[in-house]
Amino acid sequence: MPIDFDVEPEFQTQIDWVEKFTKEEIEPLDNFLRAPKTKQGESLDKDSWNAIRAHIDNLKQQVKDQGLWGFHLGPELGGPGYGQVKLCLLNEKLGRTRMGPTLFGCQAPDTGNMELIAHNGTEEQKKKYMEPLLSGEKHSAYSMTEPHAGEPGEFICSAVRDGDEWVLNGEKWFTSNGAAADFLIVMAITSPEKELLERASMFIVDRDTPGVEIIRNVHSLGTPLKENYNVTSGGGHAYIRYNNARVPAANLLGNEGSGFVGSQTRLSGGRVHHAMRAVGVCTKALDMMCERALSRKAKGTLLSELQMVQQDIADSYIQLKQFRLHVLYTAWLIDKTKSYTREIRKEIASIKITAAKVNHDIIYRAIHLHGALGMSNETPLGEMWMSAPQMGIMDGTTEVHKSNLTKLLLRDYDGCTDLFPTYHLPKLIEQAQDKFDKVIGDYLAG
Ligand SMILES: Cc1cc2nc3c(=O)[nH]c(=O)nc-3n(C[C@H](O)[C@H](O)[C@H](O)COP(=O)(O)OP(=O)(O)OC[C@H]3O[C@@H](n4cnc5c(N)ncnc54)[C@H](O)[C@@H]3O)c2cc1C
Repeated sequence: MPIDFDVEPEFQTQIDWVEKFTKEEIEPLDNFLRAPKTKQGESLDKDSWNAIRAHIDNLKQQVKDQGLWGFHLGPELGGPGYGQVKLCLLNEKLGRTRMGPTLFGCQAPDTGNMELIAHNGTEEQKKKYMEPLLSGEKHSAYSMTEPHAGEPGEFICSAVRDGDEWVLNGEKWFTSNGAAADFLIVMAITSPEKELLERASMFIVDRDTPGVEIIRNVHSLGTPLKENYNVTSGGGHAYIRYNNARVPAANLLGNEGSGFVGSQTRLSGGRVHHAMRAVGVCTKALDMMCERALSRKAKGTLLSELQMVQQDIADSYIQLKQFRLHVLYTAWLIDKTKSYTREIRKEIASIKITAAKVNHDIIYRAIHLHGALGMSNETPLGEMWMSAPQMGIMDGTTEVHKSNLTKLLLRDYDGCTDLFPTYHLPKLIEQAQDKFDKVIGDYLAG
């Protein structure tokens, strides 16, 4: 297959539309929602909020009219079926914004949960839970990590069958959007005696099920702690206790014991989508760096004339370009094989690791270049900075991904049984001499 970095003109039109829509509609909406009040400094009353909601619905309709609602979905689920490469190209535009994914019906954790139900759900589950997610009528959360452990082998939240129901007991935390979700997909241990990969199952749990208790709504660094005690607010990552929560047997998602394997669909796809949006975040940070370097003077010289600033900009550009190409390559591999093979898992682990590093490096440099302004809460850099360490923790930590990546890579190698390694030059020269003695001998023999 030839390598081609262009897209078809019709798709380029869609990218251009998203870019314009992002600049003209989404970024202003983000900015308004950062400090929602009127120009006269008044807080918004109920009617004003209704106006904002109606405006958001109108923007969503424009996205639908453009055929871009749920653009991550295949045609069987009502999406355009663009595939991962095109998804990357659109996601890198939306990555510059906060509200973009919501306006395009592709916000986490709903996207991953849609994929999960699409791959593992019964027809009834698709109708009852997936379709309202697709249309944006309902929202969901994914409840896997436990307060005492992020590692599947350590999970203890359990589900025990009792007649036509499963009874869930245990605690989960960092369930993003858990407090505001209509339903949760919960990973629970169903056969503790079995091998790790057959030990857990997933359940769809309605949020209002008796026994589902939100202990706190945990927020990220920088949010006042008092917000954690507002257990009815949106956003945040819920700390949840499942206390004899009874779930109908029909809400088992996938087969009993398939939880850990089934969840890979969700986690692998999610990691690629996060990497795609990280490209957008870092592009915005680089744009800000370049503008600042050309605007600000120190000792009568523009910052852009200073070699260390030039070095920071060059390093950022190169790092971002390499990362973007790696993300696109990974997306291309997924489109080609339509599955998460070992080859692809290597690339996904790599871009997941790099996303955290590139975010960290570029956003840090951008903050520095902006001096005190960079440290203030008056630029988007503070919000971006939060995404850097976050990226290295959510969906599996950098260290775990590095360890898994290396294990996958090493499967293609064998150790050397000789005293010296294969690439030991004296040994290679000796082997080459054998070959070339023959070449010379054959030549001289005529
Ligand atoms: C913003 C955000 C959103 C999240 N959303 C969700 C969500 O919606 N649903 C959900 O279920 N979870 C969610 N999580 C939780 C996330 O999946 C876990 O935080 C992650 O899997 C790591 O688990 P942990 O926090 O228990 O860290 P730990 O596993 O305790 O890791 C602590 C440290 O130990 C190191 N470590 C652990 N194991 C190894 C190893 N094998 N080799 C080397 N080092 C190791 C780690 O790298 C890390 O430095 C979210 C997290 C964040 C930050």
